[in-house]
Amino acid sequence: MRERAERLIEARVVVGHTVPPVELEPWLAATFGSVDAVLAQEIVKVRNPSTLEATLFAPLRARRPVDGPSAARDLAAEIAATVGDPFCHPESGTPSEVTGRVRGARVVTGANAALGDAHHAVIVFDAHDPLAFDVELVVDVLRTGRAWAERSRSDDPESVNYLLIWNCLWRAGGSIIHGHAQALLGSGPHYARIDRLRHDVASYAAAHGGDLVEELVAVHRALGLTIELADGVTLVANLTPVKERELLVVGTAGMEETDPRFADAVARTLVAYRDRLGVRSFNLALWRPPLALADGWELVPPIARIVDRGDPLGRPSDIGAMELYATPIVGTDPFELIDALR
Ligand SMILES: [Zn+2]
Repeated sequence: MRERAERLIEARVVVGHTVPPVELEPWLAATFGSVDAVLAQEIVKVRNPSTLEATLFAPLRARRPVDGPSAARDLAAEIAATVGDPFCHPESGTPSEVTGRVRGARVVTGANAALGDAHHAVIVFDAHDPLAFDVELVVDVLRTGRAWAERSRSDDPESVNYLLIWNCLWRAGGSIIHGHAQALLGSGPHYARIDRLRHDVASYAAAHGGDLVEELVAVHRALGLTIELADGVTLVANLTPVKERELLVVGTAGMEETDPRFADAVARTLVAYRDRLGVRSFNLALWRPPLALADGWELVPPIARIVDRGDPLGRPSDIGAMELYATPIVGTDPFELIDALR
């Protein structure tokens, strides 16, 4: 396990020092808990040498003060204020696709009015409030998305790269508040980040003869960063998160994302994310191999990646130049995250 860990996780602790003026001390103590907390600060730098994913864990960053008017507005009121939007009546509020709509138990698809790929659907929930989801609704979204993808593929067999995403609220990039997810089906290479995983899995197998995803999960498990949600489905608090509180729900190679074990695990995780952690704005992406299994994808399981985008009423974006062009800086601790969900 140590050998695997050395191939997959590098961690270094560095200490940075600051010299605050006396005048600033009361403010520092009030903001960061104590002046000492600011004098010497530990930063934990984690990197996966096999995928080159990396994160800077800097605990004080989470406590930074935010400039601007305080966001005292009420989130529920803001959501309620948009009742009556086009997604409240999707039959007349969203375009249909050429092949019509796919209906789930509590969702219906429409074409995305502004397409991001040749096949790009919105999966509109019956309920307006995007936070009013439960386990059944999330499973419904996974099933309906997949049914949409299969239907689109039968119409256009070259398009096999299926991606399901959910941007919950404006913080996460959602332009419409009404509860909805999106489904895309692309031709050619898979979407870039997923194709990158395929590439990393192949390189890892060639270099070490191992299964990258399986070993990464095993290393997280050995460190106490996983919860077994079902036979062959593991919840992982990622050691190289893209941003705050990133979770991975990892299935087993060959498993479909609609497998009740996987779908239920994703749904329960999302409900706990909202109810145990209080997350209100998040991104979810379902990574899976192409629908027509091609060479190089045999070891890639379905993976749901879920990340917290912070307070929807906060003004500054959580994504800056570090996240876009360097190494993400994260304030929350994966060990505390998994404990909160256990
Ligand atoms: Zn609505």
